[in-house]
Amino acid sequence: MGLYRDQGVVLRTIRLGESDRIVTLVTQAHGKVRAVAKGVRKTKSRFGGRLEPTSHVSLLLYEGRELDIVTQAEALDHFKAIREDLDRLARATTMLEAVDQVAQERQPGARLYQMLVGGLRALAARNAPLLVPAFFLKLLALEGFQPVLDGCAGCGAPEPLVAFDLTVGGALCPACARGPRVSPEAVDLMQRILDGGLAGALNEPVTPATAEVATLATRAMEHHLERRLRSVTVLD
Ligand SMILES: [Zn+2]
Repeated sequence: MGLYRDQGVVLRTIRLGESDRIVTLVTQAHGKVRAVAKGVRKTKSRFGGRLEPTSHVSLLLYEGRELDIVTQAEALDHFKAIREDLDRLARATTMLEAVDQVAQERQPGARLYQMLVGGLRALAARNAPLLVPAFFLKLLALEGFQPVLDGCAGCGAPEPLVAFDLTVGGALCPACARGPRVSPEAVDLMQRILDGGLAGALNEPVTPATAEVATLATRAMEHHLERRLRSVTVLD
């Protein structure tokens, strides 16, 4: 492969030696990529601030055996509104962390990359209460774990659906109920998010139902990742 071009979002960075960093990115064409950015921590780095978490960049990379090398990085989106607002930055970090967990190294996953760019653009435009929960639900669907919400995930019975447990597959009727309780409003919101009604759901103000969806979506994501998302606690 040698030298290659791609676009990506920086998920995290770690220090390497005196002045370098290892940058982890989710890219459009090469999945998750880990690359060395040389001299990035120097005051006069040629990369400027373009390789920080949430940075959306166009890259020229050199393929290495374990780590690639960033040779050029041009900013595509700055996401200033996110970086200048601690609450939005915490939400963005949660999305980056979830993507980092599901992305596979060097395995193309254009939809994951597009979802993250879309999520960050939406967050930069507006700090909607349901943005991160919606991102988690969409991510679960992308991973093949879309929760069943149009009937009981246990027995297929129609409404009422009174509980939600992703280990069973989604919403549950009174006979199959286990896991956390769920209100009809929260089931409806999750259905809208997953069924073409995302824009409308993002206009919802904070209500008990949006809080419920936030908790359920986080638990479902955590269950899928089998570990607690470290950055989620920052949002409480
Ligand atoms: Zn049932």
